[in-house]
Amino acid sequence: MTRMIPHFVGGKHVDPTGGRVADVFDPSTGAVQAHVPLASADEVRAVIANAEAAQADWAATNPQKRARVLMRFVELVNRDMDDLARLLSSEHGKTFGDAKGDIQRGIEVIEFCIGAPHLLKGEYSTGVGTGIDVYSMRQPLGVVAGITPFNFPAMIPLWKAGPALASGNAFVLKPSERDPSVPVRLAELFLEAGLPAGVFNVVHGDKEAVDVLISDPRIQAVGFVGSTPIAEYIYTTAIGNGKRAQCFGGAKNHMIVMPDADLDQVADALIGAGYGSAGERCMAISVAVPVGEETADALAAKLAERVAALNVGPSLSEGADYGPLVNSAAVDRVAGYIQQGIDQGATLLADGRGITVDGHEGGFYLGPTLFDHVTTEMAIYREEIFGPVLVIARAADYEQALAMASDHEFGNGVAIFTRDGDAARDFAARVNVGMVGVNVPIPVPIAYYTFGGWKRSGFGDLNQHGADAFRFYTKTKTVTSRWPSHGVRDGASFVIPTMN
Ligand code: NAD
Repeated sequence: MTRMIPHFVGGKHVDPTGGRVADVFDPSTGAVQAHVPLASADEVRAVIANAEAAQADWAATNPQKRARVLMRFVELVNRDMDDLARLLSSEHGKTFGDAKGDIQRGIEVIEFCIGAPHLLKGEYSTGVGTGIDVYSMRQPLGVVAGITPFNFPAMIPLWKAGPALASGNAFVLKPSERDPSVPVRLAELFLEAGLPAGVFNVVHGDKEAVDVLISDPRIQAVGFVGSTPIAEYIYTTAIGNGKRAQCFGGAKNHMIVMPDADLDQVADALIGAGYGSAGERCMAISVAVPVGEETADALAAKLAERVAALNVGPSLSEGADYGPLVNSAAVDRVAGYIQQGIDQGATLLADGRGITVDGHEGGFYLGPTLFDHVTTEMAIYREEIFGPVLVIARAADYEQALAMASDHEFGNGVAIFTRDGDAARDFAARVNVGMVGVNVPIPVPIAYYTFGGWKRSGFGDLNQHGADAFRFYTKTKTVTSRWPSHGVRDGASFVIPTMN
């Protein structure tokens, strides 16, 4: 019988009570390896009730003790790193090494959150008036929800849970139904680390579950990462229901290649950033923008040579540069874009369709695909493909390249490769994109800075991790206190108090 992945509620595995399920595949073979329940609205309401019951005691636990739980959690994740990475790789399809990176990037944010006692400190001003002091404190919101995508099943849940838990909130995670096992393992490890039952819960599901999380009045804040249409829907619904929301969406990340750049370094960077994880990264580079025809011709040749040498294979095999896509629908969607690129007149330099991997004929594989002479009107330039497809969109000069990245509807990440510090500084200052790399192809900010895209890559006004995360998961209370000296009395005043 096919294994059923449980929910994790109130500190234990909980079997589904409803009947709806989804398949969880091994993308390397194409076989169904498990089923995941799709929770009913009532099941989700029961999870929220569990979280609500646990939250007050957790909030009353002092911040240092809360941080110690996170510290132990990091040790446990490191203890189990290889098993977690294998599990992640077997459901997602990314390579074992890349799966470890997914988990590592998550625990780096947890490590940052161990500093929560410092980050949660308020401000204090003494003597703002006679006998008057003012101070502020950051208090948890209550129960908060995270709704996360398939492509980082460890990292993104941890980016959300770390600051939420460190701040004293209880957390309900609705992970992707495509690779749901690692989130359940993380819940088990939180419990083992000493997190009280009910403070971190995992409920599996689809729109029916999500719609409860974004409407139930007991949920105070919603953190989402996924595609732009769903990000926008969740953001507008959640804020319409009076919740805080930060929702991060899709991307089309450009890499500007200046004529003075080291083109071998650029080509290596593009190959890794374009095809790593089969292009299923929100920070993948999907558009190369060489400046000038000479740069473009040389770069296209170097990329074509490297693409031909790429090795696509089962996610847990030695030597695979990247593995399969997450499911067959993803393969069909990406193949559809490749056809559109051909139909709209782009030059196909490498076609990844129709590849098979020996012994894994049912796997969801797509070879690396490379287009040249792509223009800004084409669908393969405008839309997020989310697969192993890199397009070269040539720019006549620096200003045109800058405008292309700035004018695109997505504004997640961007990179410039150059030896010219002046150009790099100008680019970083002027480009209309949230995260910028200078000679760095995937500029995912480190844990103590914030992560967030602009334009239609992000909805909401605070970013993930860094200081913003603690602002998002807490509310500020400000206390004005007065201790009049013995015998000093002002009498009643009918005008607004000022500092005069
Ligand atoms: P998705 O939007 O399909 O799903 C994300 C989450 O939303 C999942 O938990 C899913 O169950 C839920 N969901 C799906 N349809 C829904 C609906 N109609 N109503 C309510 N909830 C729904 O995204 P995905 O395919 O899992 O992930 C890939 C996308 O995520 C890409 O667009 C990628 O760029 C984006 N992404 C963005 C970032 C970022 O930081 N900006 C990071 C990672 C991934």
